[in-house]
Amino acid sequence: MVKVLNASPTEQLSSVYVLGVRVDRVTQQQVLDRLDSLIAGYRASQQQTSCQQLITINPEFVMAAQRDPFFRQCINEAALVMPDGIGVVWAARYLGKPTPERVTGVDTLVDLAKRCAIKGYRLYLLGAAPGVAEAAGERLQALAPGLLIAGAYAGSPAPAEEDEIIERVREAQADVLCVAYGAPAQDRWIKRNLARLPVAVAMGVGGSFDFLTGRQQRAPRMMQKLGLEWLYRLYREPWRWRRMLALPKFAIQVVLKGRKADDA
Ligand code: UDP
Repeated sequence: MVKVLNASPTEQLSSVYVLGVRVDRVTQQQVLDRLDSLIAGYRASQQQTSCQQLITINPEFVMAAQRDPFFRQCINEAALVMPDGIGVVWAARYLGKPTPERVTGVDTLVDLAKRCAIKGYRLYLLGAAPGVAEAAGERLQALAPGLLIAGAYAGSPAPAEEDEIIERVREAQADVLCVAYGAPAQDRWIKRNLARLPVAVAMGVGGSFDFLTGRQQRAPRMMQKLGLEWLYRLYREPWRWRRMLALPKFAIQVVLKGRKADDA
């Protein structure tokens, strides 16, 4: 079954469930418009609306969510679940409910930064190795002139640091919080702090700061277009092989169980 989400008063979005895990059938443009309206609403309410979570999903997420009910809850209750990995795009098509396109976290982050620059929205970059978030902020400012970086801080996903991090974000008066602690840590971090996060939107961005600053290289455009970005990542970061075993397992389970799986 396809569930319909309220995107904005004038637009409705639908989602598909892959092995019980939600994927929204959205374009990048719809994601950006939705984020824009969430931030505008947050500002109009004088920061009174509660923070909304954004997830960029790939097959590793779907498989992790099979064994981790809290992670699955993060995804299924998020305000938006973008189809980031080519595997979920394939699965949605296989299940007869295709996503209009693949929407990657790193490309969306760059376009969101451009939108923020135009609207004066403030971005906070949290996570990655020390100094990387600051460098990613500078790179985003080069790509989106006029962008206001409210703050950048590595911190850590350890629960003991949460209070201090949230205080930093509050003082920075940010609108959007990008969290780069890798999945599922970043998405779990956002979910358990959601009710007290002093921003309109919080999104897990994985290795985006590393890509933006050139610490990690993205696959050549042609490989991205062919849906082979995962293969390039495996070539660049071979230690990922164990995590990437999730990919064939995911494909087999979608074929065997996908069409029988319940929504939610
Ligand atoms: N990271 C971090 N603290 C941690 C674990 C990871 O800051 O305790 C950062 C790491 O430096 C990297 C980011 O999390 O910048 C994302 O890592 P990865 O590429 O593994 O995430 P993925 O894109 O696979 O979700």
